[in-house]
Amino acid sequence: MEFDCWGRVRDQLLNVIGKDAFQNWIEPLSLLKVTDGIASFSAPTSFVGTWVDRNYGDKIVMMMTREGVAVDRLMFQADVLVQAESKDDVKQKMMAPIVSVPTGSKDLPGAPLDKRYTFDRFVVGKPNELAHAAARRVANGGPVTFNPLFLYGGVGLGKTHLMHAIAWEIQARDPKAKVLYLSAEQFMYRFVQALRFKDTMSFKELFRSVDVLMVDDVQFIAGKDSTQDEFFHTFNALIDQNKQIIISADRAPGEIAGLEERIKSRLQWGLVVDLHPTDYELRLGILQSKAETQRVHYPEVILAEGILEFIAHRISNNVRVLEGALTRLFAFASLVGREVTLDVVQECLADMLRASDRKVTIDEIIRKVADHYNLRLTDILSPRRARSVARPRQVAMFLAKRLTSKSLPEIGRRFGGRDHTTVIHAVKKIEELRAIDNQIAEDVELLRRMLEA
Ligand code: ADP
Ligand code: MG
Repeated sequence: MEFDCWGRVRDQLLNVIGKDAFQNWIEPLSLLKVTDGIASFSAPTSFVGTWVDRNYGDKIVMMMTREGVAVDRLMFQADVLVQAESKDDVKQKMMAPIVSVPTGSKDLPGAPLDKRYTFDRFVVGKPNELAHAAARRVANGGPVTFNPLFLYGGVGLGKTHLMHAIAWEIQARDPKAKVLYLSAEQFMYRFVQALRFKDTMSFKELFRSVDVLMVDDVQFIAGKDSTQDEFFHTFNALIDQNKQIIISADRAPGEIAGLEERIKSRLQWGLVVDLHPTDYELRLGILQSKAETQRVHYPEVILAEGILEFIAHRISNNVRVLEGALTRLFAFASLVGREVTLDVVQECLADMLRASDRKVTIDEIIRKVADHYNLRLTDILSPRRARSVARPRQVAMFLAKRLTSKSLPEIGRRFGGRDHTTVIHAVKKIEELRAIDNQIAEDVELLRRMLEA
């Protein structure tokens, strides 16, 4: 009862306070219980609780009461467990409404474009420069050179941002262009609706009449056979007409389990580019740019020297998490009226810093690599030099160097008592191979993602 009520209140809050505020403040809360008119919530930090209470407390009390659970006070309890960001992301996407594209293509059933997701606001660094360049090229129009453009990468690395940026740009250049952006789930939803109302003809016509089709998070249609079928036909029809298609997914076409082979191979016809996880420089660049934006809202907030650098070092998560950290920090600073020092950051972002504290261990690396290559742990640690064992061992050493802060001699010791020069050699070797051998590059990438997940 209380929980249903909270569910409805959350929906209302989302409408009232907007998606960003909702994600920052309401999403991370869970209702624990309601007793004696007191609704208790867990919050990621005590600050989040205080903030929600001050800013939304009255609203929440009112809404809960209106929804049938009499509440006159809220209580917040700092949670030691950290929210799983990616789960929230997924939930967030599920809730995205189906509405028309606000500009140009009013008659199209796409998802709304976010005003902030433009090229101007996209910070380019090594990890995303290829994807950015490809997106720019597509947005500039002209002859269709690669079709489809397939963007992939982990959660929060800017796929959706780039797709919206392309849509904005194309529409700015040619307001008559019919650009349709939607998530794969929305595509599926539309299709299922069309089936239900026996109206697949207009569904087909609609999708085949666009100039540019963008389907976000295409991994969602994996395993959904009839949707895949329809997607495939739409896709082919548009490609045949030389219409631009842009697709995103959280992994490479070949890695999407449950996606039909013919679709995989068709997706690989075009240009496949990935967004790599952010590196320190990119994170710092993004933080600097977002801090400028925050300053417009909170001109009174002063950041001490080195704060952004600290965050860029310590929060190595996706960009959405970085943004959330900065938003919370500015809100906190403006509330307490203090300069943002290292202490303030540590207090305010305790939960996020804890989350990124999770360090990958050498043991984990060895285990995952052995698994991946179907070897035994003892093979990796053994003195055997056969290529089938030596290469995975080198991959593991490379990852150990990259993902942990262990020294070369220490890594050598952990790999069956090897010398540090062996580790150096392994790191160099894998570095070279990654540039010329796709298989190795993919293996390393996959393993790194699994280990950092
Ligand atoms: P994805 O679709 O890959 O999960 P999004 O495009 O939704 O990621 O990006 C998550 C958030 O991070 C968005 O608010 C987006 O604006 C921001 N973001 C991601 N990459 C960048 C970047 N390079 N520069 C600026 N903002 C970025
Ligand atoms: Mg996205």
